[in-house]
Formats: sequence, structure tokens, C-alpha cells
Amino acid sequence: MKDTLKHKGLRNQLAQLLAEKGIKDPKVLDAIRAIPRHLFLDSSFEDHAYQDKAFPIGAEQTISQPYTVAYQSELLEVSPGQKVLEIGTGSGYQTAVLLEMGVKVFTIERQLELFKSTKIFFSKMGYRPKKLIFGDGYKGLPEEAPFDGIIVTAGAPYVPKPLLSQLKIGGRLVIPVGEKEQTMMLFIRKSATEFEKKELGSFRFVPMLEDKN
Ligand code: SAH
Repeated sequence: MKDTLKHKGLRNQLAQLLAEKGIKDPKVLDAIRAIPRHLFLDSSFEDHAYQDKAFPIGAEQTISQPYTVAYQSELLEVSPGQKVLEIGTGSGYQTAVLLEMGVKVFTIERQLELFKSTKIFFSKMGYRPKKLIFGDGYKGLPEEAPFDGIIVTAGAPYVPKPLLSQLKIGGRLVIPVGEKEQTMMLFIRKSATEFEKKELGSFRFVPMLEDKN
């Protein structure tokens, strides 16, 4: 599959739609305009890649809806050069959006099949996260902590403590919490022991899975 002018036009329309839905950060909207989402999907979905919809990506997982990706990316409030940890690499679309925003991305995927296919895809596309790791996101990534932002892209049954403790002071954790439906939660670290917590809208994610071992 190629990236054509037609795809670019569809991306501009998608960015326009997301702006109408309330996304304001120009860095996020520019990234949506730049990243060829159709290349992250099976070619049978190509015609639908720029609709604001989630799609299956194999291993019973989905690529998040563009609005959700944009919303979570905006909530991180990160600047270029900052460090972000992503839990749930999946197709790599969210990773690519963050890279386009100029941040250093560390990303963890716990399904081997997806980890392997996305690793190959990233090298084909020239996307360079600082680290792409096969592992369990509940533990975070202590050896690279602290992070300016942590984004969880699967529905978490609870807020894993290690993720809170791996935030810088002023850092932000964006995490959908809940079983069937999730509430988007934002934690801002105010000090070593204090966090400001905000509960935002309702979303639906595939579940964050406990470690298999
Ligand atoms: N950010 C992805 C969304 C993929 S869906 C995208 O843009 O495509 C959520 C992903 O989280 C799935 O790939 C799933 O395998 C992964 N996941 C689920 N539980 C996890 C865990 N405990 N640790 C790391 N990744 C996990």
C-alpha cells in the first residue's frame, strides 16, 4: 500500500472532524494529518482507515479510534524531547502519533505476535521509539523512569501503583479505568506523595491483560 494525495486529503478531513469534536492541540492535529493510518491496518480496511472508528488488528486487539488517540495524546500535555511511556503498543499507531509530536517514546506490548509484527512494521516505516518492549505494562518500565507522561491504551481494571511512582513531579498518567466501559482518568503528580486526580469521559477499550506467567 502507498500513501497518496487521496489519503492525505482524507487525513485533513479527519483532523478537521477531530477539531470539531474538541481536540485543540495543534501538535496532535498535525500528527493526525501526518501519520498514514491506513498503513497500520489490514488492506481490507483501507477505504475506512480515515473514519473515526476502531478496527481489529489481530490477536483480538484493536487500533483505537482516532478521536481516542487524539484525546489521550492531548491530555498528556507533553513537549518535544520529553519522555513518554506507552502501555499497549498494538498496531503502533498511537506510538507513531507521539513520535510525530516529537517526544521520546518507550512502548510495551504483552502479546508476542503483535510485538513482532509491529517491530517489523516500525523498521519498514522508519519509526524509532526509544524502546519497543515485549513485557507486562502493569510493572511500567522502572529502568527508564521517571517519565513526563504515561499513556495506557487498554482498559485497566485498576490503576497500577508502579505507573504512578514512575511519573516525574508534574508528570501525567492518562489511563482508562473500568471493566466493560472505562472512565478516562488523569493523574498529575504534585509531589513525591500527592497526585491530582481527574475523571473524564467514558470510553471502550480492549482489556489490559494480567501477565500470562
Ligand atoms: N495503542 C494501540 C492500541 C492497541 S489495543 C494502537 O494504537 O493500536 C491495546 C493493546 O494493549 C493491545 O495490543 C494489547 O495486547 C495490549 N495490552 C493488553 N494488556 C497489556 C499489558 N498488561 N501490558 C502491555 N500491553 C498490553
